Amino acid sequence: MTKIADILAAVFVRRPRGPIWQAGSKRGLSMDTKEYPVTRTDAEWRKLLTPEQYAIMRQHGTERPGSCALNYEKRAGTFSCAGCGQPLFVSHKKFESGTGWPSFWAPFDEAHVTAVRDTSYGMLRIEPLCARCGSHQGHVFPDGPPPTRLRYCINSVSLEFVPDGAPLRDPLQRGDNKHLTTA
Ligand SMILES: [Zn+2]
Repeated sequence: MTKIADILAAVFVRRPRGPIWQAGSKRGLSMDTKEYPVTRTDAEWRKLLTPEQYAIMRQHGTERPGSCALNYEKRAGTFSCAGCGQPLFVSHKKFESGTGWPSFWAPFDEAHVTAVRDTSYGMLRIEPLCARCGSHQGHVFPDGPPPTRLRYCINSVSLEFVPDGAPLRDPLQRGDNKHLTTA
């Protein structure tokens, strides 16, 4: 599994003088073709997800900025993958980026998010995916706040918010989320 910190370090190198980030080494990085712990057929995903979720999560689409309901979610809680229920982000790592998309400076747990290089539209971007089901979440940019200086720019339809105190969803009924806490 590719750790997101490793792929970011390989793609973005910081110049010794000044805060300008540039594309760095591309060695060993390519679109991820690995198998995920949770796999579904295309027909199963279409049935499970709304058309908008399918377009974004399985076809790498992007929500219109400002249309994201979770951008305005200010309660304490967990943001889980809409595809498989795995916790991906948490409210105390969320910040207001002003972009119109929910933004986080780190994932819930590094192991829950994997990353691939996205070179579509002539840009080099980092695409975070749910490490359990491979669903597209958004993009990561190197202009976030401390301590990571990263901005995980996430589509809200790919997430489900669970307020603190409510049980985390377990759509796979495997008990995966029982040991997880958001504190
Ligand atoms: Zn998932």
